[in-house]
Amino acid sequence: MVGPDGERLLDLISGIAVSNVGHRHPRVLAAIQAQLDKYLHLMVYGELVQAPQVHLAAALAATVPEYLGCAYLVNSGSEAVEAALKLAKRLTGRAELVSAADAYHGATHGALSVTGNESFRRAFRPLLPGVRQVRYNSFDDLALITRATAAVLLEVVQGEAGVREPLPGYLAAVRARCNEVGAFLIFDEIQTGFGRTGTFWGCEQEGVWPDAIVCAKGMGGGMPIGALLSSRDNLAAFTENPVLGHITTFGGHPVSCAAALATLRVIQEEQVLGGIAAKSALLRAELASVPGVREVRGRGLLLAAEMASYAVLKPLIDRAILGGVLTDWFLFCDNSLRAAPPLIISEDEIRFAGRVLREAAVVRH
Ligand code: PMP
Repeated sequence: MVGPDGERLLDLISGIAVSNVGHRHPRVLAAIQAQLDKYLHLMVYGELVQAPQVHLAAALAATVPEYLGCAYLVNSGSEAVEAALKLAKRLTGRAELVSAADAYHGATHGALSVTGNESFRRAFRPLLPGVRQVRYNSFDDLALITRATAAVLLEVVQGEAGVREPLPGYLAAVRARCNEVGAFLIFDEIQTGFGRTGTFWGCEQEGVWPDAIVCAKGMGGGMPIGALLSSRDNLAAFTENPVLGHITTFGGHPVSCAAALATLRVIQEEQVLGGIAAKSALLRAELASVPGVREVRGRGLLLAAEMASYAVLKPLIDRAILGGVLTDWFLFCDNSLRAAPPLIISEDEIRFAGRVLREAAVVRH
């Protein structure tokens, strides 16, 4: 990235988990340009079949098991979460929602209701009733998922909690419990999807697939777009009683769809995923070598470096930015540095980030 005075900044956070294929990737720009030359917004309700939406939906379908291969396109992550919660209520006829402590699912009323941080929710109550919170990774808390549960919504790796991975078998146990009681399982892959954790979807590494996936962020290659993926039969519930059960004027904007398809192709065709394990190991080592870092957590290029406190971390972040590395902390974890660079970051750039962070950790008097 280049600032207004020509200063160069290495992006270590991808504006948050968005710029997975970097900034202004040439294939994304070319796809946007080509679509600009055709048409922008046309019509909302599907009267006119739009090629960018159809091509994107088909490409998304090829990344998931066949039964998840139907896409409802929206504008953002929060909007995808709203759609998923509504779908679960509609399909199950139940109202209770289960999510995890310290989960972040978005800022709209429904998404905020299932976000697991009271300081974020307090000022906006009343929110949705019937939301139950489990502790992420608590096998005991799975008992809170019952025959009254419409949906269980979980991040595959918790992002804003400070990058918390699922324990081995945890997501499989959630899947089994949902099957047992007939609850609809939704994975929030808004931060983990599109290659962030080293596989196209984060859940691939767990060998567990949900009833629906929500995604956004990295999907658009820098353009706003999100999606709800589920089965065709499930999504058909939105077509009746009421007709147009979920609508969005700009969802699946043709320019965003063109950008998203190009992003997906870059990830699939340019060996982006293959390089992540080595980059992840190198970045972990660089972070671990920063004075004051107590622990490095995460998967793929979704990493957190924990320090003693926000008071120690914040000046380091400020100095790193002055030194040319853009980073920050997490919404619900302010003692940990966010390291989630574009997936196309080079090994030299990772080493540069390490140098700048080490330098920034040395307090000058
Ligand atoms: N879920 C997760 C896991 C997120 O990280 C975010 C955004 N930080 C959202 C949902 C909400 O997405 P958006 O900001 O696009 O509404």
